[in-house]
Amino acid sequence: MVKVNEYYARVGNNYLFSEVARRVREYKAARPAARVISLGIGDVTRPIAPAVIEAIHAATNEMASADTMRGYPPEAGYDFLVEAILEHDFRARGVHLSPDEIFVSDGAKSDTGNIGDILGTGNLVAITDPAYPVYVDTNLMAGRQVELLPCLPGNGFCPSFPGRPVDVIYLCYPNNPTGTTLTREQLKKWVDYAIEHQSLILFDAAYEAFVSDPAVPRSIYEIEGARRVAIEFRSFSKTAGFTGLRCAYTVVPRDLTATTSTGETVSLNATWRRRQATKFNGTAYIIQRGAAAIYTPEGQRQTRETIDYYMQNARIIKECLERLNLTVHGGANAPYLWVKTPGELSSWEFFDRLLNEAQVVGTPGSGFGKAGEGFFRFTAFGKREEVIEAAERLETLFR
Ligand code: PLP
Repeated sequence: MVKVNEYYARVGNNYLFSEVARRVREYKAARPAARVISLGIGDVTRPIAPAVIEAIHAATNEMASADTMRGYPPEAGYDFLVEAILEHDFRARGVHLSPDEIFVSDGAKSDTGNIGDILGTGNLVAITDPAYPVYVDTNLMAGRQVELLPCLPGNGFCPSFPGRPVDVIYLCYPNNPTGTTLTREQLKKWVDYAIEHQSLILFDAAYEAFVSDPAVPRSIYEIEGARRVAIEFRSFSKTAGFTGLRCAYTVVPRDLTATTSTGETVSLNATWRRRQATKFNGTAYIIQRGAAAIYTPEGQRQTRETIDYYMQNARIIKECLERLNLTVHGGANAPYLWVKTPGELSSWEFFDRLLNEAQVVGTPGSGFGKAGEGFFRFTAFGKREEVIEAAERLETLFR
């Protein structure tokens, strides 16, 4: 008789986005003429940069010839991409990593989820609340105990240290869903905590490209000591619109260790390499060529333009909400805005009000965790004309 992993019952159904979709579907079915604008999706809408498309075409042509075609890619990524990553994302910022510390993959979702494969199930895991749901769900699925660290306006969305020592800590900055960031000093306190308690920080930097404030670190390795305590996840999804192409990478420094139940020290870099070699067969050559093109001068300029476009969307939404005297967090170094719902409205009540009265869709904050109740997330990834129209509708509704 087959036994199921019963820990999966701990996560329930994927309620948030399916519930959003259901309510929108029902609304549209009842009012077929209504034009609903979504500021809820976390997916990009701008086309891929021309430099990336050109590189993908050229790589596709290489596949057409026996002399230049490529088979299985190296599990941790081609040298040309790893070198470009080291040079532009790290060396240029004074961070020195070696090629064998970079693991190219097909997404930060898989990596932030799969990293649990190399961590014991007995670890106590601290996760910020609200959070990208993958962190909590994958740890519950593995049977680990999770301690939530509330991130609220009162603590400036910087979590306080847990009441008891924890083994693993998930931090995501710039944050999804709150759009807030940590200063160097705030992040340093967490690195120091991890050094003192011999814990591991899993730092999700999927939105680092949206940081423009020099006081905000773009990599945890800008903080002294972080090499000893942190794994960092990066993604080309939002940096360069790769949500449909799939390419990301994870940094696992060689200094990182964990212990066995008998007290032996084991390298996490070697263990992650072993895990990837067994369970992952690499990211497509064509896609890695596309990713490497982001680092060319044209690629840099073109992807910057797209990020600026999204950040201008963020400003339009933020200014609109502020004119309406709503309290808005984030949106300055991140493509997300985290809005306090007016009065005593719950996240879902606010969702229904916006859908029914303005035909605007966002994401209820409560879907990202208990501490998200009473908040609402808008994303800046929409089309400009829709963002402007949504802002006008909100002004009409709340004036
Ligand atoms: N990490 C965070 C915080 C995210 O918000 C997302 C996507 O929404 C991801 C990771 C997933 O990135 P990828 O598309 O590389 O899987």
